[in-house]
Amino acid sequence: MERETRYDIVVVGAGVGGICAALAAARLRRSVLLLEEREEIGGTGVHSAVSLICTFRDKDGRPINNGIHRELFPQAYTSRRGLFDAEEIVPTYDERELKRTYEALLTAEPLITVRTGRKVTGVVTEAGKIVRIAAVSGEGETSSVEGDVFLDATADGHLSAMAGAEFHIGREEDGKLQTATVTFKMTGFDPSKLLNPRITTWGGIRSLRQELTVHYLQLKDEGGTRNPRPSVLCFPYPDGQGILFNSTAVTDVDPTRPETVDAGMKEGTEQALQLAAAVKRHPAFAEAEIECIAPKLGVREGRRIVGDYVLTADDCLHARRFDDMVAACAYSLDIHDPLGGGAKLVKIGDPGYYHIPYRSLVAKGLKNVLLSSRCISGTHEAHSSYRVMSGVSAIGEAAGTAAALAVWSKADDVRDVSAARIRYVLQAGGQFVEGELERVTLG
Ligand SMILES: Cc1cc2nc3c(=O)[nH]c(=O)nc-3n(C[C@H](O)[C@H](O)[C@H](O)COP(=O)(O)OP(=O)(O)OC[C@H]3O[C@@H](n4cnc5c(N)ncnc54)[C@H](O)[C@@H]3O)c2cc1C
Repeated sequence: MERETRYDIVVVGAGVGGICAALAAARLRRSVLLLEEREEIGGTGVHSAVSLICTFRDKDGRPINNGIHRELFPQAYTSRRGLFDAEEIVPTYDERELKRTYEALLTAEPLITVRTGRKVTGVVTEAGKIVRIAAVSGEGETSSVEGDVFLDATADGHLSAMAGAEFHIGREEDGKLQTATVTFKMTGFDPSKLLNPRITTWGGIRSLRQELTVHYLQLKDEGGTRNPRPSVLCFPYPDGQGILFNSTAVTDVDPTRPETVDAGMKEGTEQALQLAAAVKRHPAFAEAEIECIAPKLGVREGRRIVGDYVLTADDCLHARRFDDMVAACAYSLDIHDPLGGGAKLVKIGDPGYYHIPYRSLVAKGLKNVLLSSRCISGTHEAHSSYRVMSGVSAIGEAAGTAAALAVWSKADDVRDVSAARIRYVLQAGGQFVEGELERVTLG
């Protein structure tokens, strides 16, 4: 990277939120820098291998995320309705395929510059605005980047926190966060030795989980693992040749304390090896092997930046509507017990989705920062829902669109961009929106 550069929009973090934001902004003909700390783009959905394409449909099966998410996961839009019937195919993705899709979409946008291996370590603010950020490469080279609007797509709110934004972390009563997980993939099993060999269906994968849980509980009885989970959670790869185990659980991982992340990766990897050994006791898995262990600890939760509105569990569960909606989410509240006791899912009430207001993407006290990843303004419980890729992709697309509109209109504050205008542009690109539209002509 040049030592000093300037872009219209600077996106920090190249996970699903950052990538969708960068694409949305560049498609509106603004110059975008996408900075990523790791050597490769993709974030959690690629490097922590998460597998399930969580529901993005209302109770009648209508997609409530029809934007860039659809370009990422076209296969999920051809299936029937996401009803979880025993015979229905489990909507999953292969993380290597997703990474190729990200790369193809980003490469197709000449106005996006992607820089990997660059960690943002500092910000300079003036009068409530970030004017400059500093990024450091693996070799220790520091560069300075200026921009009009900065997007926090770091998942953990690192950028906003560096800019002095207020934040919360963990659940209200004790500050504890959801468990972290090291996922891993096993291949080489023999489905014909399973009670239900059709593992790519909901019926088949549920049956497989039960069969494997027997061996896992035996391992626990023998004292062979510290994994606190009560049962095995796994998903099929789309080709049915691999199984992704999302079934280790590490407590007390806090991404603002890097030493807990390192220790969590070590503990999670040990749990993965222990679980794989137990799985191999099942005759269908006698010849199976671990094909890969995710290179990055899957961290579910970090800072939640306080924005102009804090989205609550009540808003989600009661399917609340907001005048300034810019995204929607249909996924249940899904809290992986911070103490390790498994996951608790609570469904969104009728019609099966809630609105995410623009105010939750605007960091309180900052004029040119938009939250573009799971770090938007919400409670611990609300976060457990919109943190999934269907939610975060819609958030990223909305944030990128808002940032581009702010630049086009030379807005002094991202709050000057109306949600009705953001929605107008989003729906023109195919995204699902609800509420009044305000026409806008760009250039
Ligand atoms: C174990 C696990 C299982 C999950 N299962 C599912 C599932 O089945 N389906 C689903 O939809 N969702 C699932 N999720 C949730 C979902 O994957 C994530 O919440 C979502 O991908 C987060 O996207 P993001 O863009 O907010 O953050 P990320 O994808 O984490 O991206 C943030 C990026 O910012 C970069 N970054 C951070 N700080 C800096 C910095 N200072 N400078 C530069 N770059 C920086 C990081 O390196 C990272 O690449 C799961 C999560 C976990 C952990």
